[in-house]
Amino acid sequence: MTTPGELVFVAPKAKRPPQHLADLDPAERANLARELNVPAFRIEQIAHHYFERFEIDPDVMTDLPAADRKQWIEAVLPMLLTPVHTITCDNETTAKQLWRLHDGVMVESVVMRYPERATVCISSQAGCGMNCPFCATGQAGLTRNLSTGEIVDQVVAAARLLQEGGVGGSPVRLSNVVFMGMGEPLANYKAVMGALRRLTDKDSHGLGLSRRSITVSTVGLVPRIDQLIEENLPVRLAVSLHAPDDELRDTLVPVNTRWKVSEVLEAADRYSRSTGRRYSIEYALIRDINDQGWRADMFAWFT
Ligand code: SF4
Repeated sequence: MTTPGELVFVAPKAKRPPQHLADLDPAERANLARELNVPAFRIEQIAHHYFERFEIDPDVMTDLPAADRKQWIEAVLPMLLTPVHTITCDNETTAKQLWRLHDGVMVESVVMRYPERATVCISSQAGCGMNCPFCATGQAGLTRNLSTGEIVDQVVAAARLLQEGGVGGSPVRLSNVVFMGMGEPLANYKAVMGALRRLTDKDSHGLGLSRRSITVSTVGLVPRIDQLIEENLPVRLAVSLHAPDDELRDTLVPVNTRWKVSEVLEAADRYSRSTGRRYSIEYALIRDINDQGWRADMFAWFT
């Protein structure tokens, strides 16, 4: 439901990605079992392989009947992300992965290994409609929203890569997820909420990650921040501010013409009070644009 004056972000229509286990909540998974005429406990076994072992290869799922395995996996875990290219840097502790989706659209995710944690930065949209002039993704515009499955599958792929020792040279568990890749997560609200539930649900219903280890970054879609408060999903919130004054922020983050700096920070304060989570502020320093001392003072005064 929209309120008068609220901007509505409409993604271009595209052929929907294939339905994937990660798109479904437990009730929908039971429906899928009935549709496929597969015993429900078999779907749960597949979910265990996918969410807890990050496994997608039917050949190693030896607890499933050999005659049905391949066909079931094709139906329940269709290939959503095809790897195109991986670049490693920072002494092999960072891996930037480029994926092709079912319709040829490309998205990126980045896996980062630190001494005390392993983080994946994921995309929530292909492109972005927010049009921030300093951002290459924004300049290309929005191609389409990602599905819940396409978002979750980036995380599962990162967890698998880390488990195999593919980043930093030794196996490690994925600990953190940040929605800071391509797209504005709160403009793809429904799919991102589904992804947050799959990432935090436990016992083969999801990856069982801690809510405090997940960060959703937004340019400040105020009604969606308020909606997120109601979800009972107290993940961390990050606000991409980039300027403390409306005059400059109107140009750096064009959605500021709709929700001003003070409104965005008030919404973040409401989120913080309601969830008990401190929020963070992102500020990309751009030489001679937003790096003046008086803006730093203004920023400090706000926070
Ligand atoms: S919201 Fe983020 S991804 Fe979108 S244009 Fe702005 S900086 Fe780029």
